[in-house]
Amino acid sequence: MTEKHVGSLKVVKFGGTSLADAGQVEKVVNIVRSDVSRRFVVVSAPGKRHSGDIKVTDLLIACAEARCAGRNAREEAAAVVERYASIQRAMGVEEKLVQEIAEDLRRRLASDTSDKKAFMDLIKAAGEDYCARLVAAVFLKNGVRARYVNPVEAGLLVSDEYGNAVVLKESYARLAKLRNETNVVVFPGFFGGTPSGGIATFPRGGSDISGAVLAAAVRADVYENFTDVDSVFAADPRIVPNARPVSIMTYREMRELSYAGFAVFHDEAIEPVVRAGIPINIRNTNKPDAPGTMITPHRDHVSGAVVGIAGAEGFCTIFIEKYLMNREIGFGRRLLQILEEERISYEHAPSGIDNMSVILRENAFAEEVECRVLERIRDELSPDDVSVERGLALIMIVGEGMHYCVGMASRATGALAKAGVNIEMMNQGSSEISMMFGVKATDRVKAIRALYDAFF
Ligand code: ASP
Repeated sequence: MTEKHVGSLKVVKFGGTSLADAGQVEKVVNIVRSDVSRRFVVVSAPGKRHSGDIKVTDLLIACAEARCAGRNAREEAAAVVERYASIQRAMGVEEKLVQEIAEDLRRRLASDTSDKKAFMDLIKAAGEDYCARLVAAVFLKNGVRARYVNPVEAGLLVSDEYGNAVVLKESYARLAKLRNETNVVVFPGFFGGTPSGGIATFPRGGSDISGAVLAAAVRADVYENFTDVDSVFAADPRIVPNARPVSIMTYREMRELSYAGFAVFHDEAIEPVVRAGIPINIRNTNKPDAPGTMITPHRDHVSGAVVGIAGAEGFCTIFIEKYLMNREIGFGRRLLQILEEERISYEHAPSGIDNMSVILRENAFAEEVECRVLERIRDELSPDDVSVERGLALIMIVGEGMHYCVGMASRATGALAKAGVNIEMMNQGSSEISMMFGVKATDRVKAIRALYDAFF
């Protein structure tokens, strides 16, 4: 494998399974060595080596919890250090590095625990930090001129919402300076520095965010995201075993599909690269020659072509009926205002002449909230009828080519009817690149299979 794209610049992010043990780290070395444009490497903490294994981040959480419960966490810390030591030994890197890691973890664990959330993030962030130090050492040992870069020192500034930090704007200009770096930069994902001098982490899986921020800051030509799957598939392979791989999709298509359950990316994770228009390439560390899936701002498309079908459970709908609703000025606003005042975010609001539905996520609409909301709707809007239906799944058919294509809806409804799936609700999004069906959650799998057969 020798791809030499001199001149272009790639930010390459490796997830936890790509760094789980020495064998995986060796693949990472080869991937980076094979392409000189891979100049920025963002790493997660070592993940699971097999299904029963524990991720380093989870081991670190156990360390922090032990300390907060007043225990010394020695055993838990030893398990963390051993994960790095096993990679260090197998890769022939100096043992000193592991001693430094053990010493740093001891220091972190000995720090003040009075602010539990801040303490937890300080410990969690260590997983990525140590991994980057170790990977940089492995690179050097293997002839790749590399340098570990500390995100805090490089200027990645985040809000102090521990465990849920948000990147602060000034980070971009600061990190942009790394563009002039001549060595391969090895950058730990998942955390940044807070304005008050602490460390805060992104939500779980947040190394994707670090990679995207860095890619936008250094104006990368491509953001490569190496994981453990060959590509994105046109439907969940657990539901449609031979689902077709997707070679290219647009940001919009990705957003719609991940909304309905595709585990491509955390939508918010890649906002920086989407804004900067940087293509994302999802690739497999275990099959580095496979082209993977490109996610781009635009693509050529064939009319009527569908890129993917997704379906997610966990939705419910409030259905409201009132004769002459269409003439009642402000009805929709007052309904949505009730939800706003109850701090409920709504997902969709399909409407008819005398009726309106609001689709919500079930986890945001507990039974006691439902009682309050329905009472307010009855009092404030005097509907003829109001009801709630739970246990819904939303199925999405997505494709840029669906825009202006005649007959898509009938193909979909025909397929669902043939499979005996009752459509509770149908909505062609205003984006016109998707069609959405509400079905009973128990029909989700059947619906996805039927639609896949109809469109692929
Ligand atoms: N190591 C962190 C986690 O397990 C972050 C990441 O892998 O992206 O969530």
